[in-house]
Amino acid sequence: THFGFETVSEAEKAKRVYKVFENVAQKYDVMNDAMSLGIHRLWKDILLHAMHPQPGARLLDVAGGTGDIAFRFLDYVRYQRERQRLRAAQSSRTRSWQDGSDDDVTEDEPRASTAVVCDINLEMLKVGKQKADSMGISSGLSWVVGDAEELPFFDDQFDIYTIAFGIRNVTRIDQALQEALRVLKPGGRFMCLEFSKVTNPVLASLYDAYSFQVIPVLGEVIAGDWKSYQYLVESIRKFPDQEEFKNMIEDVGFCRVQYSNLSAGVVALHSGFKL
Ligand code: SAM
Repeated sequence: THFGFETVSEAEKAKRVYKVFENVAQKYDVMNDAMSLGIHRLWKDILLHAMHPQPGARLLDVAGGTGDIAFRFLDYVRYQRERQRLRAAQSSRTRSWQDGSDDDVTEDEPRASTAVVCDINLEMLKVGKQKADSMGISSGLSWVVGDAEELPFFDDQFDIYTIAFGIRNVTRIDQALQEALRVLKPGGRFMCLEFSKVTNPVLASLYDAYSFQVIPVLGEVIAGDWKSYQYLVESIRKFPDQEEFKNMIEDVGFCRVQYSNLSAGVVALHSGFKL
C-alpha cells in the first residue's frame, strides 16, 4: 500500500498514520483553520445540512478525531428538537383553546440523539474530549477508541455513519466501507467528506502549488512538523477521484450513491444508503 507517495506494507502504513496523528493532535484544530483558511468549518456545516438529522438519530462518526462532526450533529438536533417541542406545545394550546378545556395535553417528547466518536488515535480523542468539556457538551456523546476496519460495534446500530477526512488514512478502504455497511441500520445513511480531485485544470495547478509549497511550511511553522503535513498532502493526491470512490462505495453494497463537489472538487461529499 502507500504512505503518501511511498510504497510501504499495510502494517507500516497503519503505524506511520498513527504517529502522524499522535504528533499533530495538539495542533490539529489550529492547523485545520490555517491550512484551509477556516473553510473546513463550512465543509463540515454543509455535511450537516445535507444530513439534516432528526431528533432521535444515532450517529457514528468514524475517524472522528477532535469531534467536529459530532459537536455539529448534537447542535443541529438540539435545535430541531427545540423546534418540535415548541410546535407541539403550540398545537396543544390551540387544541385546548378550541375544546374550551384547561387540560394541558402532553405531547410525546422528541427523542434525544446520541453521537459516538470513534477514532484509532487516543491522542486525537483526548483533545476532542477536552474540547467537549470546555464547551459543556456531555450528554449524548461518547468517545470510543476503534479501528474503522474493525469497528467495535454490533450490526445494525446506527442511523448515520460519517467519516470526515479520515478514509484516505485507512489502510484497506473497502474493509472500512464494509464495516460502515454492517453497523448501519437498514435505511441508514453513509456520508463521507474527503479531499478529492479539483476539476478545473487552472485551479488544479494553483491548488497543487499551494498544497506542496505552502502546507508543509505551515506545518513546520505552526506545529513544528513538516513531514506529517507532507504526508497529508501526498495522501490526498493518492486518494481515488470522485467517480472511483463512488464505485467503491457501490461495490460494497450501498445504494443510491451520489456525490457533490465542494470548492471546485477540493473536497467531495459522498453519500449512500443501506437498504
Ligand atoms: N474527522 C475529523 C475532522 O474532520 O476534523 C478528524 C480527521 S483527521 C484528518 C483523520 C483521523 O483519522 C485522525 O484522527 C486519525 O487518527 C483517524 N484514523 C486514521 N486511521 C484510522 C482508522 N483505521 N480507524 C479510525 N480512525 C482512523
